[in-house]
Amino acid sequence: MKTVTIYRINETDRTIDIAQSVNDDSESIKAAVLNTKNFTFDEILRQHLAFRDSGTLIENCLNRFLSALHIGRGVPVNADDMLAGFTAENESWFCSQSDFAVINDRPLVLLDKTPRSYGENIFLRGLMTAAQELYGEERTALSAPNDVLLATLNKSRIQAEISAKITTFFDSNFGAIGDAAYFDCGQKINAFAVLLSETIIFCDDYTFGAFHKCGNCLETLLFELGQIVHRNALSPRKCGFCGKMFLGIEEEVCCRQASCQAAHKEQKEAIYKEHTEEYSQIKRTYDAFVRRYDGYLKAAGINTRCPAEYDEFCQAKEVRKAEMNSLKKRLIRNGLPTDELYEMGEKFKAEIRAIAEGIMERCGAK
Ligand SMILES: [Zn+2]
Repeated sequence: MKTVTIYRINETDRTIDIAQSVNDDSESIKAAVLNTKNFTFDEILRQHLAFRDSGTLIENCLNRFLSALHIGRGVPVNADDMLAGFTAENESWFCSQSDFAVINDRPLVLLDKTPRSYGENIFLRGLMTAAQELYGEERTALSAPNDVLLATLNKSRIQAEISAKITTFFDSNFGAIGDAAYFDCGQKINAFAVLLSETIIFCDDYTFGAFHKCGNCLETLLFELGQIVHRNALSPRKCGFCGKMFLGIEEEVCCRQASCQAAHKEQKEAIYKEHTEEYSQIKRTYDAFVRRYDGYLKAAGINTRCPAEYDEFCQAKEVRKAEMNSLKKRLIRNGLPTDELYEMGEKFKAEIRAIAEGIMERCGAK
């Protein structure tokens, strides 16, 4: 029986709804559309990284198909059984490099043990389901031939032909599905493909939506996703907080997980506060210095005796105050060091002092 994949990409919230191995008839598709699994782009990226790491696993699967072909008339191979079997057998293979991280200079730490089950890996499931269907079709030449005698006589030749087809299928599809370029705007997509996919519109009383139907190897899904990745300049990045891989633009350092987002916000605020404190300290010292000279002028009665000169001082004071404030803001906003503000403060202090002393000399208050 022919099966298909039903999916919908939600670009706004960066998720994919997907149902795989769905029988290609309207009743099954209707049920599948209402029972899709939801994955974030980041989860899909991590599954893809794990899939690309799984060459040995894929080779073992291929060998299972090839040896099954040589038993009797060719025994059926079930993709679900294989996926479940491999999940149990090869738990350790499910941890790819990207699941490890160096945290606080400690050696590699396993970050997350849950999503390693290849039964849950949409790419592996897709490839296995498609391979199983190809195998099922091809082996009818042995299990239900038109001419039993002829099939028996040519058994090894038929087996060799099927083996070659299945091997080619695995080689070309593992490479095509596993192309890193779908998830990385820095890499060129080599494949050129004209793909046809059907759109499925479903409605009930409250909702309606559009899904796409594609082959089990997820061809259109990958191209559609790749287009979003390249259009938005996304590439795989490592979260600075949980250490997991995620899809982000160049300057993004944090994945979309709520706990990481909260930690990132907290960190930014702490840095901002720390910086602000340092800048404010320089500013306070400067302000105190200016107030002291203002006090000297007032003590000498300059503000009442020589209002024009006192005005001159006040203006000089205001101009510099505004400059100090705008520099402070610029440095904080850009996360720049305090040095420049400190230097400006020192320069202005000398100027204020010279102006105040000049006025006092002119007004004879020394
Ligand atoms: Zn994170």
